[in-house]
Amino acid sequence: MIGKLLPWLAAVDLPRPKPEAAAVALTAVRKVYMTGAGEFVALKGIDLQVDKGEFVAVVGKSGNGKSTLINMITGIDRPTSGDVWVAGTPVHTLTENQIAVWRGRTVGVVFQFFQLLPTLTVLENVMLPMDFCNVYDPAERPERAMELLKLVGVENQADKVPANLSGGQQQRVAIARCLSNDPPLLVADEPTGNLDSRTAEAVIELFRELTRGGKTILMVTHDEDLARRSSRIVTVSEGLIVPAALTGEGTL
Ligand code: ADP
Ligand code: MG
Repeated sequence: MIGKLLPWLAAVDLPRPKPEAAAVALTAVRKVYMTGAGEFVALKGIDLQVDKGEFVAVVGKSGNGKSTLINMITGIDRPTSGDVWVAGTPVHTLTENQIAVWRGRTVGVVFQFFQLLPTLTVLENVMLPMDFCNVYDPAERPERAMELLKLVGVENQADKVPANLSGGQQQRVAIARCLSNDPPLLVADEPTGNLDSRTAEAVIELFRELTRGGKTILMVTHDEDLARRSSRIVTVSEGLIVPAALTGEGTL
């Protein structure tokens, strides 16, 4: 299957990223969902800038638009209006095919329920994005995947299938997988939501290390203690970002 996709992926052109751009820059982003009851405005005009190397925690009550916001940045969903620039690329202008290729190279995505492929081994799961994006030479991929598993501390699980790992181990594998193509930006939606507090702490420490290595990270979390370990907290309330002055977070 991957073999058939590769010529298609190689044929997709992407605009050249604007150099020296912010990691993330959203301007006046609105998202309106059509529902049975009519229009629902999930994002009401979001302006957000994230610099390279920041570790941003996105907090807010359930249903207030955190996942919707995150999905604008990964290109999983599109804004109804407004601009979404990520690492110098205007994501809101890309076609679906361009978004798929762009995301594979630019954004590592981590989910609450890991989303590993159950029939592939841990090593194969980590190699998959490299196979899709064809950035690394096929001969290099197993070794690179192994290095990433070492980085997150689960190299001794490489030949197992995900079901034989604990939740914490599976999330480490998912983090190794999201680093596969060395993307500048990692986006995680409640990555610790399904982990015990000690394992969650270890995941946050891993994220902190990755930002020290130059990655930019956006993480949605419910956990205020974990949010405080980030470099900046952004609070989403009813589809808007609450100014830092009102939350007491950040520097004025
Ligand atoms: P959070 O992640 O903060 O819990 P979400 O971003 O998932 O919140 O959702 C924000 C609001 O948008 C919620 O009221 C939710 O019901 C609504 N919503 C999310 N996705 C859709 C959709 N596909 N269609 C209609 N409404 C949606
Ligand atoms: Mg959510």
